[in-house]
Amino acid sequence: MSVFSPIAALSLALIIFAIDTLTPFDVAIAVLYVVVVLLSLNFADRRALLLVGAGCMALTLLSFLLSHGTGFESGPVARCLVSLAAICITTLLAVKVKSAISILGESERRYRHIFRGTGVAILEMDFSIVAAAIAALKAAGRDDVDALRAEEPGFARRMLGLIRVVDANDTTLKMFGAASVEDFRRALPRLVPRDMDASLWRMLASLWSGSMSYEAESLMETLDGRRLDILFTMAIPPERPGLDQVLVTIMDVTARRKAEDALHHAQAELAHVTRVATLGELTASIAHEVNQPLAAIVTNGEAGLRWLGRPQPELTEGLTSLQSMIDDAKRASAVIRRLRALSSKSAPQQASFGLDELITETATLMRRELERHQARLSVELDEALPAVVGDRVQIQQVLINLLVNACQAMDAVQGRARELRIGCSLVDGTLEMTVTDSGPGFDPETASNLFNAFYTTKANGMGMGLSICRSILEAHGGRIRASAQPEGGATFTVSLPSHKDAA
Ligand code: ADP
Repeated sequence: MSVFSPIAALSLALIIFAIDTLTPFDVAIAVLYVVVVLLSLNFADRRALLLVGAGCMALTLLSFLLSHGTGFESGPVARCLVSLAAICITTLLAVKVKSAISILGESERRYRHIFRGTGVAILEMDFSIVAAAIAALKAAGRDDVDALRAEEPGFARRMLGLIRVVDANDTTLKMFGAASVEDFRRALPRLVPRDMDASLWRMLASLWSGSMSYEAESLMETLDGRRLDILFTMAIPPERPGLDQVLVTIMDVTARRKAEDALHHAQAELAHVTRVATLGELTASIAHEVNQPLAAIVTNGEAGLRWLGRPQPELTEGLTSLQSMIDDAKRASAVIRRLRALSSKSAPQQASFGLDELITETATLMRRELERHQARLSVELDEALPAVVGDRVQIQQVLINLLVNACQAMDAVQGRARELRIGCSLVDGTLEMTVTDSGPGFDPETASNLFNAFYTTKANGMGMGLSICRSILEAHGGRIRASAQPEGGATFTVSLPSHKDAA
């Protein structure tokens, strides 16, 4: 604040007082005191403004008394009253303006404080050149961003060079290792790695569509070449459609991503361990599945030997036996291959596969186990169902877990049939696979606990099976739910997104 402002206001007040008191003009000179009040807005707070207003009114009255005495003539009295009213109204308005300015200043200070001090990188950016480029393209009839990308793949990166960084908070500078906003501003185009052009295009597509906000996970580089996993958000104030003031936040989620990766790894390890443990429980069934074709090979081999060992060898029959041996060997090797897939520790694979085929294969693998538990399995397949895209081994693990659980639950059933039913269908575009048993079911109150890790009601249970099923399905964009049947028994419903294109 300049010291001249109060001096100027005081001088003006004295000049007005002198003219008002000493000159004989028949005009309301004192009205000019409003200028003094308005000048005071520059330096006075609300209280001081009230004092200035009161002072000006006092000078007006003093001037009136000095120049007109106590002979109250109507003309001068009216002029005096008009001046007093003008000063009073101006003072009140000035106080109001002062309050508004101080509220605004306070909010600006608060915003700056948050902007500077928060742990999130906040940037104020000017995208107006990008907005103008988009508008020009649209005006020229090029309104398909995908077509633009195909024709000019370098466009998004060129736009990145045209974004202006207006301001960036300290967290931004620290996160990217920049010494100053200018430093960051210059480096920005190379902080988005070349292999991240796809995310630049996604952001551009969002601006293109006129969306007022955008959020995406991406990768950025720091000035010293470290790579950061970031969560990027962009908000466009509705009153700035020209995109000259876009608020951008950047969160460094590298540590969170690492923790997630570690968690996924641990979950995969756990899933593998429990899968192997389940396979251990199914040893009898598996041995039977492998043994069956081996036994058939031996039988066919012996038959072949007999056909060919005759004094007149039966070549056709001998050849048929050999062909059967080959088929059986292939069957055995297919069973072993599938078992190896189940027991191996490979990273999750993305493939398209049919649920019906998976169910048939799993039912075959578990035939002996079902017999051991005296369970009768019925399968309702629908071959027209779309395919699932995901890790076949993991989905098979879910089904095996559900079937093993159902068999174990039905062990308690005496005097009635132990029925197990697998069904699959398409419900509102989602694939649903159900496993229903006629066991004792469960208390509806415990339904929410079933999927919790370590929840078990079995003496030797681990309580991990259903929890792993749930995480496998969630990783596939699906879910699992359990319901107790009114007539006893439980139904587990697995939902998976369908992929019509992959069918
Ligand atoms: P575990 O089999 O080691 O107990 P799970 O996570 O597979 O672990 O199962 C958790 C619990 O859910 C079981 O202990 C059992 O109480 C209940 N449960 C699972 N499947 C069924 C079923 N088909 N019928 C009744 N209860 C079930």
